[in-house]
Amino acid sequence: MQDLKTPCYVIDEDKLEKNLQILRGVMDRTGCKILLAQKAFSNYGVYPLVAKYLAGATASGLFEARLCKEEMPRNMENHIFSPAFREEDFQEICLICDHIVFNSMKQLEKFGERAKMARMQVGLRINPEKSTQEGHAIYDPCAPGSRLGTTLAEFEAGFLANPKLLELLDGLHFHTLCEQDSDALEETWKVFQEKFGKYLKDMKWVNFGGGHHITREDYDIARLEKVIAQARETYGLMVYLEPGEAIALNAGSLFTTVLEVQEKHLYGDGKDPAGSMDILILDTSAACHMPDVIEMPYRPPLKNSGEEGEKNHTYRLGGPTCLSGDVIGVYSFDEEVKEGDVLEFQDMAIYSMVKNNTFNGMPLPSIYRKKGEKITLWKEFSYEDFKCRL
Ligand SMILES: *Cc1c(COP(=O)(O)O)cnc(C)c1O
Repeated sequence: MQDLKTPCYVIDEDKLEKNLQILRGVMDRTGCKILLAQKAFSNYGVYPLVAKYLAGATASGLFEARLCKEEMPRNMENHIFSPAFREEDFQEICLICDHIVFNSMKQLEKFGERAKMARMQVGLRINPEKSTQEGHAIYDPCAPGSRLGTTLAEFEAGFLANPKLLELLDGLHFHTLCEQDSDALEETWKVFQEKFGKYLKDMKWVNFGGGHHITREDYDIARLEKVIAQARETYGLMVYLEPGEAIALNAGSLFTTVLEVQEKHLYGDGKDPAGSMDILILDTSAACHMPDVIEMPYRPPLKNSGEEGEKNHTYRLGGPTCLSGDVIGVYSFDEEVKEGDVLEFQDMAIYSMVKNNTFNGMPLPSIYRKKGEKITLWKEFSYEDFKCRL
């Protein structure tokens, strides 16, 4: 670990494989199919490992679908969903995808026939209008004003206007959860059936989307499997799940070096307690390398640290960018932290590398892969990666 060039991500393949084994268990016991939602984690270097356990991948658009086509083995399913597809992408999508999910009746009308002619299975994303999460409206596709999914009113009006659209559909899809347990799925599925149950008999499959925190220690897998079994038995449906987070949960860290210790305690006058807390400037940035810390927001776990004041030495940790809010959080340590020390943020495999940016000309962290005790460099970035995007 000492020789790592920071900032860098280290993907833990053993942990990834443990997650995949848990997911494979759900597939084996229920007959459902689980797909990798690539938007959360697209490290195609480990796609062969993912493919040993899962049924395929899902894409948010053409590029992710291409990545699946190029980097997953041939027998993997390649699903795609987008709120609106682009005409110029559609032909290629027809060539490389086997399942397509439309967001609206209008999109289904525009592309549905062509998708069928290309022998894709066609689905429609539903908005069951059942929120099961509070606080994170930006992660709630059932929040008022949502653009994601077709409501029952829109669905029925669409078929009234054009009854042929129903014949195009092989499946229905909903994605409404975020880091949730299976009780939220159960509640949502109940409402979904009340509203759309009468249409499910005509379908081949239902896709429960992502947001299932299946590989979290306290997740109730038995309840998930009960819901899947009920869907199969009642309607004869194949059930798809497309988690992102659950696949690489806790399967990677971000290592960073302390560049500067700002000794605020020497100058604080006590009037502003926050102002007299020492600050660590790191060679990583929340805004560039872990944007969910600011967007979500959340406080990432940091190895061998405690909450503010829990251990002897408390610091505010921030990045070297111009953004005042580029702060990762407040953490405490047993020992005083020194310039040059390396810190490890955990659970950094998901929604990190896929969201990185080079704001302020920040370098992109290198990516290493760890298997057993062996760590190998997989990707390194340079000034050219910054320049070529501008
Ligand atoms: C984000 C998303 C997923 C994956 O969600 P996770 O929270 O990472 O499990 C799956 N399907 C769709 C449609 C999504 O938008």
